Amino acid sequence: MEKWFVTKQINKNTFVISEPYHWEETNCYLLLGSKKALLIDTGLGICNICDEVRKITKLPVVAVPTHVHWDHIGGLWDFSEFYVHELEKDWIEENFPLSNEFVRKMLVKGNNLIEYINVDDYAVFQGNPKKILIDGDIIDLGNRKIKVLHTPGHSPGHMCFFEEATGYLFSGDLIYKGTLFANYESTDPEKYLESVQKISNLPVKRVFPAHHSIDILTDIISDVDKGLTDIKKQGKLCHGSGLFEFNQWSIIL
Ligand SMILES: [Zn+2]
Ligand SMILES: [Zn+2]
Repeated sequence: MEKWFVTKQINKNTFVISEPYHWEETNCYLLLGSKKALLIDTGLGICNICDEVRKITKLPVVAVPTHVHWDHIGGLWDFSEFYVHELEKDWIEENFPLSNEFVRKMLVKGNNLIEYINVDDYAVFQGNPKKILIDGDIIDLGNRKIKVLHTPGHSPGHMCFFEEATGYLFSGDLIYKGTLFANYESTDPEKYLESVQKISNLPVKRVFPAHHSIDILTDIISDVDKGLTDIKKQGKLCHGSGLFEFNQWSIIL
């Protein structure tokens, strides 16, 4: 049985914990501060991410999903302190918009998970956040300050996180190499573009996405900005326009 998580060190006090054997190739990030640790995203919940975190740190951990989709909140079961954006409080507390049946189908797509879980038992996490976040909030880890950026479009309460001191941007599902999704009912293609423009103004030195390769250049932000702006000029930045393909990424509208 393959070890489910792969952990890599990014710098002295930043780690990425990935699920590379699942088709979604999720990446979660563990940021160690002097007083607290922050876990950005918690993966699919197929294996226990908390055990991986505890191999790295004994600090109290705050878990913050970039947004309330099953592949980001799956590991929240083991964290008593977690925060979400105000617009997705309802999703995490009681009204997740997709059925467990739909999520189970997405989970097994192209993957045989039989060694790891019984998929029929898989349920989307629901629980009560300790704190509600809004744009501009700072998550204070002691010697590290992480800024919350509300970046809706992929989902209404999607957040990116920016650390000014390092220039690290944790981009969630807003930007990654691969196929981006703005086709669900709860997505908003116009807001997606506005969010990309919002982060394109930041002094970003590295982009850390929630899916696929972390070997990604900061240029991808301006590429996505330009691509979506072109789609908008053609009058196609709306649901139902289909798939648009670019060099390192594509988007389904
Ligand atoms: Zn998502
Ligand atoms: Zn995702």
